[in-house]
Amino acid sequence: MRAETWMRRALEAAGRTPAGDVPVGAIVVDESGAVVGEGVNERERAGDPTAHAEISALREAARVVGDGWRLERCTLVVTLEPCVMCAGAAMSSRIGGIIFGAYEPKTGACGSVVDVVRDPVWPFPSCEVRGGVLQRECQRLLQTFFSDRRARQKRHTTARHTAQ
Ligand SMILES: [Zn+2]
Repeated sequence: MRAETWMRRALEAAGRTPAGDVPVGAIVVDESGAVVGEGVNERERAGDPTAHAEISALREAARVVGDGWRLERCTLVVTLEPCVMCAGAAMSSRIGGIIFGAYEPKTGACGSVVDVVRDPVWPFPSCEVRGGVLQRECQRLLQTFFSDRRARQKRHTTARHTAQ
């Protein structure tokens, strides 16, 4: 399955997320299946509200593909359902497809909360969306991150109480 192979690449990228940032990885593949862009979430490290994995991957892909800003024959593959900003950026590149892993019930903009992709605002609504690819692996990555963070916060709280 091509989508699953690509998602494994996106998961590998997610593994390179800086410590302290929510692990999300994205790649952009061209029509031959070659990876032309890759990004990880680094909002905290960069102190940049736009430093989501998808934005970095789309920027790199636009440089590599070399057709100006257009990524019509490319597919964005990301471990977590894109937010409004990232779905909007992908659509602005006229991306041919979006594949995501875990659904994001709080901020997902590819159908979970809102559907930016299938909105009449886009003049060329030709983007195919597929969610839930390697969903369990993608969810596990996030669950591990958040449970580790909760455990660290709990240890801090306990340490403070002990010091008092
Ligand atoms: Zn985003």
